[in-house]
Amino acid sequence: MDIDSLSNYLLIIIFSLFTVIRITYYRRARKAGYKTVVSESRKYSIWLSVFICYEVFTFFSYINVRSLNYYPQLLTWADLDLPLGLRILGAVLALVGLALFVWIHRTLGDNLSATLRIKDNHTLVTVGPYALIRHPMYSAFYLLHIAVFFLTANWFIGVTWMIGLSLIILLRVSREEAMLLERFGEDYRTYMRRTGKFLPPISFSRTPDSGQL
Ligand code: SAH
Repeated sequence: MDIDSLSNYLLIIIFSLFTVIRITYYRRARKAGYKTVVSESRKYSIWLSVFICYEVFTFFSYINVRSLNYYPQLLTWADLDLPLGLRILGAVLALVGLALFVWIHRTLGDNLSATLRIKDNHTLVTVGPYALIRHPMYSAFYLLHIAVFFLTANWFIGVTWMIGLSLIILLRVSREEAMLLERFGEDYRTYMRRTGKFLPPISFSRTPDSGQL
């Protein structure tokens, strides 16, 4: 099997695992049945849906699995000749990204939601990946997007997915933090001081109350 076919199979496995993880934890959070007390306006959630549809559409336009008789190859004009090492790195990053994804979903538990919301018994999670980073799920999304770029070796997918993800996250993060500040007040402010947004804080201070914003 050549490297392109192998990458395509890997992409399908990664896509399937990603979908199973998301559905499993969303169903779990929804089953808990907590009421939403604050939720974001629909105009923002629509952009998220549009972006997800775009990603799914370009993903299946790219995928080319001859042995399954499925090969639309609509995006071959943007193919790059990436070295094998980067494809292997892509596979490793995808595995790490998915493992982190499970850990993050488990830790966030019933507070999880696709669109921004505060539920009636929302708790502030500050443990596990959230002990050092305020938005580990978004960091994991970046990791998975880099992995997909290396595995597809397609610059159109790499560039447009990365721009789309960055715009969505840019739109979300400040509103998400404002919502959490409104709900948890000083507790969230203190938590912000000792954590980084997408990466762990660079320097740890001696006093528990100061650090990176
Ligand atoms: N931005 C986070 C969570 C994404 S899921 C991350 O990247 O990991 C989105 C939901 O998580 C939002 O509705 C928000 O209310 C909730 N949320 C974000 N951070 C939280 C935290 N530290 N504790 C509890 N809920 C949180």
